[in-house]
Amino acid sequence: MVIELTKRQERILQIVKDEGPITGEQIAEKLNLTRATLRPDLSILTMSGYLDARPRVGYFYSGRPAGSVISESLHKLIVNDYKAVPIVLQESASVYDAVVTLFLEDVGTLFVVNQKGYLAGVVSRKDLLRASLGNKALEDMPVSIIMTRMPNIITCTAEESLFDAAKKLITYQIDSLPVVKASEADGRQYELLGRVTKTTITKAFVELAEEPHV
Ligand code: ADP
Repeated sequence: MVIELTKRQERILQIVKDEGPITGEQIAEKLNLTRATLRPDLSILTMSGYLDARPRVGYFYSGRPAGSVISESLHKLIVNDYKAVPIVLQESASVYDAVVTLFLEDVGTLFVVNQKGYLAGVVSRKDLLRASLGNKALEDMPVSIIMTRMPNIITCTAEESLFDAAKKLITYQIDSLPVVKASEADGRQYELLGRVTKTTITKAFVELAEEPHV
């Protein structure tokens, strides 16, 4: 069971770590609370595996439950440490260019930038397949016509947790997120810093298992 501890539960844990074994009565005294007030906290801490209780001995610290350690270390992974290089096209590039780039760069999603280099759109495999069906003039069709464009693009920041980025991929059913930073010159425009894809998340997952951070 993974739970978020309250401030009071954290304090109880600290007291038991420092002074355990210790009775509920003694913990309550240290916190200037009654034993009855503490009862729900103590049962949560015992049930979730942080504390052990022995009759007539008291509470003692049994270590962090595995689930909470894993969850904590997952939330510490930051997009900036895992992001990949974005593969970028100009708005004026053709659908043909986009298909060739997709193969050459071995990616599934391309980002499109405007003349100033700011994020303008996203083009995925299916966008390109759709545009290609029955259409011979791919060289004459600008990619800007078929891309998903700003402001409809789901983004993430470099400081965001990889976990939050992964949740966006799932929630919006997309394969790739641009990692962006608001431009200092124009706050409505985004600079492109990288990309997070389903592969990024899979790699982080494998890395975590191979080199446990816990
Ligand atoms: P695929 O084409 O392989 O299904 P996606 O699921 O990523 O790839 O793309 C599905 C649709 O969502 C496409 O039309 C694409 O333009 C759009 N899309 C992809 N990434 C994003 C994003 N980060 N924000 C908004 N739309 C996106």
